[in-house]
Amino acid sequence: MRSTYVNTTEIRAGDTVAVLAGKDAGKRGVVKGLVAPGRVLVEGVNKAKKHQKPRQKMSSGSQTPTIEPGGIIEMEMPLAISNVAVVCSKCDRPVRIKASRTSDGKKQRLCGRCKGVLTATKSKEVAK
Ligand SMILES: [Zn+2]
Repeated sequence: MRSTYVNTTEIRAGDTVAVLAGKDAGKRGVVKGLVAPGRVLVEGVNKAKKHQKPRQKMSSGSQTPTIEPGGIIEMEMPLAISNVAVVCSKCDRPVRIKASRTSDGKKQRLCGRCKGVLTATKSKEVAK
């Protein structure tokens, strides 16, 4: 286990990423956000099912207990950043990010393969 914080992969919210390892390897999804150092939440990927049992709850002031229905709750679990890679829209495959600067000094990310500029999908287009 590597304990140092790695910030070489500049993955951002809105990026389309491919999962490289784990049970969802090969899946693609859009990054919802960075949740912890080195961990990202990817839409529709690494879903964990939580079985919720029906529960009886006594509400104060009422004689009859209310029943909370049970069911399966699906929630996305964060993935380690090292297990995902940004998908270049031109190459249509996971690529290595190259950090670079534009001529006016702004940071930009380039595809390590085709050298095209990587841009994150607008989060508004992501929302369904
Ligand atoms: Zn590319």
